[in-house]
Amino acid sequence: MKNSQGIIFVISAPSGTGKTTICERLLKSSPNLKMSISHTTRRPRAGEKDGVNYYFIDRTKFEEMIKNGDFIEWAEVYGNLYGTSKKIINDLLNSGNDVLLDIDIQGAKNIKKIYPESVLIFILPPSIEELARRLYNRNEEPNVIRNRLNRVAEEVIQYEFYDYLLINDNLEKAIEEALCIINAERLKTNRINKDFMNNFLKTI
Ligand code: 5GP
Repeated sequence: MKNSQGIIFVISAPSGTGKTTICERLLKSSPNLKMSISHTTRRPRAGEKDGVNYYFIDRTKFEEMIKNGDFIEWAEVYGNLYGTSKKIINDLLNSGNDVLLDIDIQGAKNIKKIYPESVLIFILPPSIEELARRLYNRNEEPNVIRNRLNRVAEEVIQYEFYDYLLINDNLEKAIEEALCIINAERLKTNRINKDFMNNFLKTI
């Protein structure tokens, strides 16, 4: 049973919450869910690849893309620019996929404005202490950890803007819950392809 239109799932979380791992597992478990790869001016971290984690571009190119209207949304996060490409989203939706976006709250708000049917999921760490510990274990610089922790309150306070809230106190449970959300959203009556239902009704 096909949905009439692909669904946009947005996942936001303070960094260190396990969001990247959760997204990777969702993509593996759900074949027609595809990641929208963002563009960024941030430099790649060790192990990150261009065209896989992000499209890494310089500020001049990013500003040119803004001028050309290439982004559905873009935002400055921790001094770097990040943007969601219109073409990438449209190509994925037009080829019958659902799309997963890992973007911040500014981006989530803009996506909801443009696509009111999109589904917004916020992931919380079990506690601030645990988040600090995870960032510390990732070998982030102390000032990076401080910056990121300072931003958490700003982000978390806006949780009600999201449709769903997950707490990643157990990775497997959080993945399972995220998959439940995706599957339930796909089965909503307002998303079901009308032609499919009309044909089914004719057989009754
Ligand atoms: P990181 O540099 O750790 O990969 O990402 C920093 C923040 O930028 C994360 O909160 C991530 O979700 C957000 N982000 C990544 N891509 C985009 C995007 O295209 N648009 C917006 N608004 N935020 C993004």
